[in-house]
Amino acid sequence: MDYQSTRGALFADEAEAILRGIAADGGLFVDPTLGERPFDWRHCLTLSPLEMQSMLLHHLLPGIPDMDALVRRAYSGKFETEDLTPLVSVGGDYVLELFRGPTAAFKDVALSMLPQLVAAAKEMRRDRSETVVLTATSGDTGKAALEGFRDVAGTRIFVFFPHGGVSAVQRAQMVTQEGGNVTVCAVRGNFDDCQTGVKHAFAALAGDGELRAKDLELTSANSINIGRLAPQLVYYFIAYARLAERGRIRVGDAVDYVVPTGNFGDILAGWMAKRLGLPVGKLVCASNANRVLTDFFESGVYDRRRGFFRTDSPSMDILVSSNLERLLFYVSGGNAALVRRCMDELSHSGLYRFPEELMGRLRAEFAAFCCTDAEGAEEIGRLWRAEGYLCDPHTAVAVRAAREYRGKSGSDAPLVILSTASPYKFPAAVLNAIGGAAQGDEFDQMDALARLSGVPVPRGLASLRGKPERHGDVIGVGEIPAYIKNKLSEDK
Ligand SMILES: *Cc1c(COP(=O)(O)O)cnc(C)c1O
Repeated sequence: MDYQSTRGALFADEAEAILRGIAADGGLFVDPTLGERPFDWRHCLTLSPLEMQSMLLHHLLPGIPDMDALVRRAYSGKFETEDLTPLVSVGGDYVLELFRGPTAAFKDVALSMLPQLVAAAKEMRRDRSETVVLTATSGDTGKAALEGFRDVAGTRIFVFFPHGGVSAVQRAQMVTQEGGNVTVCAVRGNFDDCQTGVKHAFAALAGDGELRAKDLELTSANSINIGRLAPQLVYYFIAYARLAERGRIRVGDAVDYVVPTGNFGDILAGWMAKRLGLPVGKLVCASNANRVLTDFFESGVYDRRRGFFRTDSPSMDILVSSNLERLLFYVSGGNAALVRRCMDELSHSGLYRFPEELMGRLRAEFAAFCCTDAEGAEEIGRLWRAEGYLCDPHTAVAVRAAREYRGKSGSDAPLVILSTASPYKFPAAVLNAIGGAAQGDEFDQMDALARLSGVPVPRGLASLRGKPERHGDVIGVGEIPAYIKNKLSEDK
């Protein structure tokens, strides 16, 4: 099937789109026929979560063979619950828990699947090279990528994190990582230094004759890859199926979804599910103090020229939400020239204005709200006291948006709030919000939170303490390329 660049007439089949990640013109790969080819969404709702995933991925990436087996390999036995993403009734609303995977972060849903898709794409193209995944991480993506790629044949993964710049739990998650094809290394500097260093390493190693001779291909596990986006539709279907089973809706009724948003991948997956027929009502885009998307939906101007806030919901601290580009492409009827113009303006001037008639279409499908850390903390406390439900600071942003949306719209459609992280990944903020006191290191805080709330610590986090550290290297930013080359030559 032909995937197309959002910025022009560049085409690639699904395997190439997955292996390249980004199109040569800087655009993102999209399926221009999304929603036009028939998809039996009603049948999809009757399936088990893994069967749903298989049906969806087969539809979105039809050329990849043996999807059932890939899906089983990606998820079987790795998630805490049979349902992958359980739907929990909280007050009158529903919380969709996306964090029941091996690393207790919602990125697990996609990063468990991506490595299987990469391996299958290589098989499809008879590509015998070894895929070397380079990832810079501010915490969550690195661990989820490590778990996904560990011991996947034909792949090798490097994760670089800022030395002293991730939480104690996140560091422990990464430096204890097992697997024969993984390397984790701390870099002296902050996350931006780390990311820049990895980008330079890509450039430095891309033309490296020795690596070529060894048949190594570099790639990245970042969220613009269609292989990371496609596995995210499934939980919109799972939530809808559970609401129908429980008699809360009849199949065909609209359901609203509220999504804590950063790079716009999660919420775009919801829009794609709607395009495949799922009766999605409003998609509510919830942002923290970095409110660039809230302003965009309000004004039609995307303006990244503003201060950057470090918040209690760090995975949403983003000023350029890459996946929005895909939505602009679709809503403009595939106007790649318009998308290219907007993206050029964004990179040259720091802003673009999207045509007002198209904004009207977007506003019919999306609502957008934002809140501060203090308002988020208030929601964590309120939900805990009123419902006995513990949520993390990212989810709290969505809980706030849900309440504001409900107040403003007067809609009485059922509301599903996507929950993207375990409260135990951010124990200090959560403890403080529910009236506890955060003391000691993060492991002490996890214990204190468990004692106070009675909510069990996720398996993957509880088992961390006492695990041997396997990756102790700390290097300078400039040493990254040489470090990678050394490690790769040790492999062979
Ligand atoms: C990545 C992430 C998000 C944002 O998801 P996007 O797809 O980038 O919008 C929200 N919450 C958590 C905990 C995350 O890790």
